[in-house]
Amino acid sequence: MVRESWEIATYEGGHLTIDLAAIRTNYAVIAARVAPARVAAVVKADAYGLGAVAVVQALVAEDCRDFFVAHLAEALELKPFLPADAHLYVLNGLPPGAEAACAAAGVLPVLNSWEQAMAWRDLAVRQQRRSPAVLQIDTCMSRLGLSPEDVARLGEVPAFFDQVEIKLVMSHLACADMPGALANQEQLARFEALAGLLPPAPRSLANSAGSFVGPAFHGDLVRAGLALYGAGPFEGMASLMQQAARLDARVIQVRTVQPGTGVGYGLTFTASRNTQIATVAVGYADGWPRRLGGRGAAYFKGVRLPIIGRVSMDSMTLDVTALANGALTPGDTVELIGPHQTLEDVAADADTITYEILTNLGRRYRRTYVGETVHPPLEVVA
Ligand SMILES: *Cc1c(COP(=O)(O)O)cnc(C)c1O
Repeated sequence: MVRESWEIATYEGGHLTIDLAAIRTNYAVIAARVAPARVAAVVKADAYGLGAVAVVQALVAEDCRDFFVAHLAEALELKPFLPADAHLYVLNGLPPGAEAACAAAGVLPVLNSWEQAMAWRDLAVRQQRRSPAVLQIDTCMSRLGLSPEDVARLGEVPAFFDQVEIKLVMSHLACADMPGALANQEQLARFEALAGLLPPAPRSLANSAGSFVGPAFHGDLVRAGLALYGAGPFEGMASLMQQAARLDARVIQVRTVQPGTGVGYGLTFTASRNTQIATVAVGYADGWPRRLGGRGAAYFKGVRLPIIGRVSMDSMTLDVTALANGALTPGDTVELIGPHQTLEDVAADADTITYEILTNLGRRYRRTYVGETVHPPLEVVA
């Protein structure tokens, strides 16, 4: 399915290939794992950089009907591509004054604070209807969500639960990437106690990694992001997922330099022998971490090609001496993310997390979607 090298001539510096079949498979893997809980797809930040519209359409075909984004702006963009029976949630809640726009679009806000909860209730009162929303409880992370005190006093607000229909009660795990962490058990206990103070509603606590912490964490709805895109913060999870993103960079120049020759900005690399160098057209402006200068690598036909010197804005240099002379020529492509180098490998070399690598990839590459759903694409409703 993924090719060793790109034959198509391109005008871009690199190729991002997104495997929708892999994303569907990853969804099915998580869904089977956490059943009977349902699985929502977290498609914020343009589906972690891979293209929210394409990802949503692929997952609708897997019967996914719950989608989370971070901002109302993201929700409004995505809404026309969702079937009528799907739910779209805004994780970051609403800025003051955005309530009417959110309600008009049929988008569900995550109420993260007392002020947001009251503003949503006020809108419902003004519109004389019961307005659906998600309630988030802060169970220790101190990031988003109502405090335990606020949860307890919601019941004192006259008719709050008559005006606001709680579709889902949620919280978020701080340490899901460490399944053995005691903090997970503490958060679960706090979540169950606080949710118990509210009228009965479906519950959601786990992100991708949280679905590996234990069945008690699955609740009614798991919010999966990273796993869908083929990565995982620990080995037992990453190995279950299919890689969904492949990145290839175009070679634009090849040269051989003598010992003593410097390479790149700051001349941080000096050749110690005759060195064959390939310049490829991907740099930090393409979201490829500058940190990988002198640390990361690319691959060509399975051969590791170290990045030498600094990563520039639009290009970087590889030591390709390990390849036969002339094996690599301008127009060829080298693998940056793919079968020989996973997202996890790149993140480890760059001292960061796979989330940051994925979401930084940006819009500069030629994008190709493979493994399209066999179902016809959804019609966009105006
Ligand atoms: C981003 C996010 C998720 C998805 O997390 P993954 O680790 O990518 O599965 C789930 N819940 C909340 C609240 C989030 O912000």
